[in-house]
Amino acid sequence: MISEKSYVLGTKKSTIRTIFEFGRKRAAEVGEENVFDFSIGNPNVPAPEKVKEAIIDILNEVDSVALHGYTVAPGDPQVRETIARSINRRFGTSFTGKNLFMTAGAAAAITICFKALTEDDVHNEFITFAPYFPEYKCFVEAMGSELKVVPANTADFQIQFDKFKEMLTPDTKAVIVNSPNNPSGVVYSEDTIKKLAEILSEKEKEFGHPIFIISDEPYRELVYGGITVPYIPKYYKNTLVCYSWSKSLSLPGERIGYIVVPDEVADFERVYGGIAGAARVLTHVNASSLFQRVVARCVDEPSNIAAYERNGNLLYNGLVEAGFTCQKPQGAFYLFPKALEDDDYAFCERAKKYDLLLVPGSDFGCPGYFRAAYCIKQETIEKSIPAFKKLAAEYGK
Ligand code: PLP
Repeated sequence: MISEKSYVLGTKKSTIRTIFEFGRKRAAEVGEENVFDFSIGNPNVPAPEKVKEAIIDILNEVDSVALHGYTVAPGDPQVRETIARSINRRFGTSFTGKNLFMTAGAAAAITICFKALTEDDVHNEFITFAPYFPEYKCFVEAMGSELKVVPANTADFQIQFDKFKEMLTPDTKAVIVNSPNNPSGVVYSEDTIKKLAEILSEKEKEFGHPIFIISDEPYRELVYGGITVPYIPKYYKNTLVCYSWSKSLSLPGERIGYIVVPDEVADFERVYGGIAGAARVLTHVNASSLFQRVVARCVDEPSNIAAYERNGNLLYNGLVEAGFTCQKPQGAFYLFPKALEDDDYAFCERAKKYDLLLVPGSDFGCPGYFRAAYCIKQETIEKSIPAFKKLAAEYGK
């Protein structure tokens, strides 16, 4: 009667959901301020004032029928032009509105790309790098394709290129890159991107067909200490950029983002057409017409990263002091320290004793580690450090 796969996806509780519910229960028992919930990647910095002003101005200025009506499927042409010009100013590209396709956030953008690149009646493979955003698997598999995961390079959370090379086959359609990364908080260096581009260019020649990079970059602006995030279309021509304002402007509930299809991709007309067709069958009629206009007005608004940067440093220093090993925060709002025992599930279970709510690395394809999201109150981080120290002491740290 019902698709078993859909039923399981819709009812099986994710680890994060289970942890969240445990946190609610504990908060009722011991008080909200004594539960250290590092489980959820929801921005806690408010959207900039400019967003509110833009919404109000648009509601006052634009005719209601036009404002709330459908836009053309790729998005309002003026909005796309405005966004393309902003991208060009920042990255020295030369996009126009016709290179953009507005979407309901990054999730829709990447799923549309997966659908568009999944060829009919053949085996299709997509590759990503652990640790990775777990939704990739369910989105790729929903298209009937296979997701292959390159094991993590735990030395620095860049890419294990030897393993990657072995995994590329003639069935590889695209490689998904997420930098700044959820969950590692690491930014792929220019060297990493150059090497990736070099390997893929060689393999494209060998296999005689394009292999795309899908660059999933909702955290692009959330970077610390002056780190630069390479703009991948400048290094590799078959790149599709999937962007979202969920994190940069704290608008995850509004569902607004885009796909960039550069002119340089092999056969632009077919790729852009495939993206439009994929969006159509996925019933993605158009991205929110109000929020298309809002982001166009806020396109050069800086992200407020100060609170995340402060939180990231506080947590990093506290964890290192407690005896954990961890990469320094570079971007996004996550740390991905090594668990203090091999079994990351057992470790996160033990952490609950101190009301520390952490997500096991296995959920991101990287056992032996855990994710701590620091998009939470500064006081919570400060109060959590003694709890981390007690937990570490149990392991003789
Ligand atoms: N990609 C990554 C790596 C994410 O972490 C998230 C959300 O947390 C998404 C995509 C989805 O973002 P959006 O809200 O734009 O759909």
